[in-house]
Formats: sequence, C-alpha cells, structure tokens
Amino acid sequence: MRILVFNAGSSSLKFGVFDTAGPADTTQAFKGSFERFRDGGCAYRFQCGENDESGTAPHADLPAAIAAVPGVLQTHDITGIQAVGHRIAHGGDGFDAPAHLDEETLARIEALTPLAPLHNPANLEAVRVARKVWPDLPQMGVFDTAFHLTNPARATTYAVPEPWRRAGLRRYGFHGTSHKYVAERAAQALGQPLQALRIISVHLGNGASVCAVNMGHSMDSSMGLTPLEGLVMGTRSGDVDPGAFGYLHRQMGLSIEAIEAALYSDSGLKGLTDSSDMRDVEERAAAGDAAAQLAINIYAYRARKYLGAYAAAMGGVDAVVFTGGIGENSASMRRRICDGLEFMGLRLDHDRNQAVRLQGREAPQIQALEARVAVIVTETAEQLQIAREVAAHLAAPRPVPGPIPVAVSGRHVHLSAEAVEALFGPGYSLTPGKPLRQPGNWAAKERVTIEGPKGRLERVAILGPLRGRTQIEVSRTDSFALGIDAPVRDSGQLSGTPRVRLIGPAGHFDTDGLIVAARHIHTNPEEAVAMGLADGQLVDVRIDGSERGLTFTRVLVRVQDGAFTEMHIDTDEANAAGIGPDCEGEVVPGLAAHPVDGTG
Ligand code: ADP
Repeated sequence: MRILVFNAGSSSLKFGVFDTAGPADTTQAFKGSFERFRDGGCAYRFQCGENDESGTAPHADLPAAIAAVPGVLQTHDITGIQAVGHRIAHGGDGFDAPAHLDEETLARIEALTPLAPLHNPANLEAVRVARKVWPDLPQMGVFDTAFHLTNPARATTYAVPEPWRRAGLRRYGFHGTSHKYVAERAAQALGQPLQALRIISVHLGNGASVCAVNMGHSMDSSMGLTPLEGLVMGTRSGDVDPGAFGYLHRQMGLSIEAIEAALYSDSGLKGLTDSSDMRDVEERAAAGDAAAQLAINIYAYRARKYLGAYAAAMGGVDAVVFTGGIGENSASMRRRICDGLEFMGLRLDHDRNQAVRLQGREAPQIQALEARVAVIVTETAEQLQIAREVAAHLAAPRPVPGPIPVAVSGRHVHLSAEAVEALFGPGYSLTPGKPLRQPGNWAAKERVTIEGPKGRLERVAILGPLRGRTQIEVSRTDSFALGIDAPVRDSGQLSGTPRVRLIGPAGHFDTDGLIVAARHIHTNPEEAVAMGLADGQLVDVRIDGSERGLTFTRVLVRVQDGAFTEMHIDTDEANAAGIGPDCEGEVVPGLAAHPVDGTG
C-alpha cells in the first residue's frame, strides 16, 4: 500500500511517501520538507532515490506549501497514493489508535486546540488541504499522545484540585510515535520480544522527552499536559517550579501569556546560551564558554535523573535507547547522561559510543561487555511509523461483532513445583477439583493465604496445572488490603513484580509474581478468524446487558489452540460494570482491532 504522510509543524512541513508491503517491510519512496517561511518564500528539500535537491520555493506559508505537495509528487513521478496519514500532536484521552479523519473526528481534534495551540492547528490545516486534494482517499490521523494512554493514573494525575482535574488537567505525554518506533527497533536489535523488556526511550531533538516503555506499553513519560514539561529542550524549559508563575507575575509584572511564551520559545538551551542548537552549544563549551558548559551539564543531569526515575518506576531496566538529532549524533551527550549510572548496571563502551555513525535504520549497541543494561542508538522514524500504523489499521480485518462470554476471575495463584513443596510439604501433589472452562485447567481443592505488610487474604484459590513460575493474581482492591502496589501485567510478564508471602499448612513461600491481571480475551484460531481478531490485538468490548454497562477498552486478544472463547476480567472490573453470571460482551465494531504495534 502506498501512503503519503504529512507532519505539519508550526513552522515547517515534512512529508513522505511510503510503500508498505508488510509490517517489517516499509520503504520510503519520497522525502520532502518545506521550512523557514519568510518574505513570501521558503526553503525546500526533496529526496527521491539518488536524487537530493534543495533550494527556495515561492510558498509564503504552510497552507501554500501543503497545496504544492501534489504538484511536487507529480513532477517526481510519484503516483498511486492510496491513503494519507497525518501526524496529530494532541489527541487528548480519546484517541488510542489511528482514526479516520471525518467531520466528527476533526471537530473532536479541533476542540483539543487549547491543549496544543501551536501544533494541532497546523496538523488540521494539512488535513483540510489533503481532504480537498484527495477527497476519495482515506485520511487517517495518528496521535502523538496515543501510545501513552496506557500510563497508569498515578503517572497521569496531577495533585491539584478536583475541578481542575475535571477540566482536563492531567499528564498526556507526547513523541509517542517516536518512542513506540524506537522501543520496537531496540527490541528487534536485541532479538527479544518487546513485551518482555523494560526500555527507557530517550528522544533528544529540538523537543525532547523520556519514556518508560514497560513490557511493550508506555508507563510514564516526561512531557505532561503540554510538551513543556520534563527535559531541557531547544527553546523549552522543561520542569520548572509552578510557583515561578506567581513570582514572575508579582516581581516582574509579566502576564501569563508572556511567561508561557518565554517558557516555550526563549528557554531551554536558548535561554541558557542564546542558541537552541546543541551543535553550537557543544562547540562553544569546548572553546571554554562557561554558560554553554553549564547548559550542557544541566541538560545531561536532567536526563540522567529521568533515567534513574524510570528505572525505579519499572523496577529495573533492560535497555536504554537514544534517538533524535542529539541522541543520534552527540556521543558526548550520551556519555554525560550515562556517566554515574554504573550502580544500576548501565555502563557505556566509550569506543563503541564514539564510533556510532548512523547511516540508515541500524541500531548499534554501545554498552560495555559486562553491563547489565543494553544501550542502543537509532534514528527515529516517525513518518515511517505513521505509514505502518495507517496501513495496519486499514488492512486489519473488521471484527464481526459477536457475543463473548465474560468470566470473572477472583483472586487466585498459579504455583510452581517449588512453591507447592514449601507450602504443603515435600513430595505433595495438589488435588484437582473443579475443571475450568479453559481445557486442561482446574481449581485445586487446597487453598493458600497471601500475606502483605498491611493484611492477609485467606483461602485463596489455587489454579492448576503447575507452572514454571509462581504467579499471584489479585484485584486492585486486594492490593490495597495487602499493602503492596501490584502492577497491571499480562499473564507471564513477571519481571520486576513485587514480592509477597504465601502461607500454606506446611510453611511459607516468599516470591515475586504479584500482579493485577490485565483483562484479556482467550480464543482459538478458528473463532479468532471468524471474529476478525488476531493474537496480540487490543480491542474494545462493550458490556450492555448488565446493571452498570460500560465499555472496556484495550482488551488484549490471546489466541491459543483449543482455547475456549471468553473474556477474563477481575472482580473490581466486574463490580464496576455490575456484572453477574452469564454476562456477555461485544467487540465494538470500528473501534476494535487496534493493532498493538503496527504489525496488525
Ligand atoms: P526535531 O525535534 O526538530 O526533529 P532533531 O531531532 O533534528 O529536531 O534534533 C535537532 C537537534 O539535534 C539540534 O539541537 C541539533 O543541534 C542537534 N544535533 C544534530 N546533529 C548533532 C551533532 N552532530 N552533535 C550534537 N547535536 C546535534
């Protein structure tokens, strides 16, 4: 499928044409940009095959540049566009997957403009022009915020008054398309599934942010309500005490608008050194300029603090990936950020770091041989990722909505052989009791107690057969009763999970593996095909028939041979939806089939 991608910023237009033959097989047929609009003209650069041309063009502003794109493509013999993908900066909390840009969706995006006053209007301008030029092609929006909608409430909630929170004051996070792409690229370079890795993605461009990608899902990121929070950037301040607003207003008589404009446009590297360009700042620092040296130290120190914070948030880190103009090109900045993190197993090989020269989409590893944490450098490819997501979304089968039985899982444990011996005595075998609907699974006649620092849960069910690793599944409410913060995890994803004590008649067993199980649908290959579902997909499931019906978003589809089709939720979720026995849910048409990672 041939896809045109627009990335319209406040002062530049980047666009590209991609051919997607499959998720891992996307090539770029054309790359173009228009920027530095002034005096009725702008600078352009077009790359097509071996051809690389640049110069000035007579387009006075962004709309004129967008309108010129069809002619540019025609001149370069780029035909056969089948869909248009648009980068949309802010999707609020309503878009967790690519969306068709119809009138209703555009109105919803427009309503988010106050949250992204510089970015969303430019994005929408590109959509308007593209819809006029290609009225018959699907126009899809891919949102910078979408990847972060998996962040837990403790990461997204500001501790501010309730009416403010109701008005939408929360952390969203940005650069999602980039973080998602580079995290996948890093997993690929390591030859491990993304779902088994704790990755910190460090995007250092003109805008900059860090993201904790925990087992394939964004868990936290350094940008917040707006792209202003977090790291030091080219012209943006990053973290500043919010008390500064009142202080500056009272002491310097500055208006809110003036303060905000300065934090966006005159701060960061520019505020510290007068230049927003890291190459200049590094050159000046090397020549002895004290302001430039301090700026570099502040920049690296802030980033290093986020690495430590996100390693703590995820209970460890397996890989750090650097990207963006600075992350990709500045060996000295990568070194400054990583220096001092040896205590957490992160150590660079300085020769490998120094030798990085990215040419294409390679992802070299630059950690020292004995280091526990991999460090990877790779080029970000937001437009390519947008093309992949648009193609995957358009190609995804539309599920045939059919009723799916909903099963409510009470708290339970899966035990290893070692745990059974510790709890019930050497050589003990559990007694299979009631068979479960998933073939081969049963509830044992025995029970155990789970003990945490705050309380105990007695007579907890044990589900067989035995597993290689003990896994304890509780609800969020249970985790408060225990006094342990259990993460929401897919079954089997246990690294970094909290420890807890199990108590049986013969003794106790201390183990990690305490989780709140992520809701999921079990199904088999035949029924998955009939419903248009694929393994690893995230879908929305509506519960209508209950007293407090609601739609569960981001339900993971797990396809296994012989599985009985049903959705598993926990008791908190069942209570929230007022679900009793024999309840059924429906995959919501249209909203369903969120491809997890562009692989469909
Ligand atoms: P954007 O966020 O606008 O896409 P980029 O990702 O291109 O920006 O990053 C731009 C930043 O990368 C600038 O600060 C630039 O100085 C910096 N940069 C590019 N090359 C180098 C280099 N070799 N050394 C240090 N910084 C570099």
